[in-house]
Amino acid sequence: MKLTPSPYLWFNGEFVPWEEARIHVLTHALHYGSAVFEGLRAYATPRGPVVLGLAAHVERLFHSCKIVDLPLEHTQSAISAAILETVHRNRHPACYIRPLVFRGYGALGVYSAECPIEIAIATFPWVKSEEAESLETGIDVGVSSWRRMAPDTHPAMAKVAGNYVNSQLVVAEARRHGYADGLVLDVDGFVAEGSGQNVFLVHGGRLLTPPVGDSILAGVTRRCVLDLAADLGIRILEQRVARELLYTADEIFLTGTVAEITPVRSVDGKPVGTGRRGPVTQSLQKRFFGTLRGEFEDRRGWLTPVRAASGT
Ligand code: PMP
Repeated sequence: MKLTPSPYLWFNGEFVPWEEARIHVLTHALHYGSAVFEGLRAYATPRGPVVLGLAAHVERLFHSCKIVDLPLEHTQSAISAAILETVHRNRHPACYIRPLVFRGYGALGVYSAECPIEIAIATFPWVKSEEAESLETGIDVGVSSWRRMAPDTHPAMAKVAGNYVNSQLVVAEARRHGYADGLVLDVDGFVAEGSGQNVFLVHGGRLLTPPVGDSILAGVTRRCVLDLAADLGIRILEQRVARELLYTADEIFLTGTVAEITPVRSVDGKPVGTGRRGPVTQSLQKRFFGTLRGEFEDRRGWLTPVRAASGT
């Protein structure tokens, strides 16, 4: 996905023109991965853009900061307001939103408390041509030879930049093998998640997904889908998932801010169920996109309108 510049970026509390949001090459985060980030999406609706899972994403940003010792002076509500204001200022009908907190320039060395903690919020249009198609046809994935980090190595629950070396290795390997993406096992060989998505399996009408604490990122879309599944009366099991279940599942899908609810049509070359999007996946997609379009009531407050919040 190529970046399309927007007029403004929120940088350390102020709006600056896109081109002026610059950093030094000796920025700590660039050398040691000391950055945490979020990825959110604003969707176009007749009442203007709405942000999906704003509070949950901002809360996770603060949790990530706390886990990796990046203390933030701002409050969660100030960051939420800045996110909405950035979407509004850039006049996006719909967009991707990237908040980033990082250890900046000032000293070098693995632990450098002297480096300032900087924060930026970028918003830009999200244009991905194959998106609509893969939501219907599904994607082919392979189980990666790379594992997710063991619990006492990197903090899997923090969305910290350094963790994404693992994700990059997974995607690169998957593409080399002709898959769209990879599924990653945890250190014990149980299914954890995708390179940047959580994974769900449908088995005998029940929905299975690995629990938080099983080396996964606690996805906001995952939480949203669990809510929607509960609304639909689907039985949910958050439990360890053996690799073999991937080959015997009736349906598999991936969730994430970018993936939304993407069906998986094959794993390691073996078709999932009939090899087509299954009925449970389809009904969850219908609820998910229907809620975004306002066809279903947003019962749990997943959507925040940009316009109301920015007072225009
Ligand atoms: N796992 C990983 C490793 C991710 O990077 C993401 C994307 N943020 C997800 C899961 C899905 O999380 P979310 O639904 O919050 O986008």
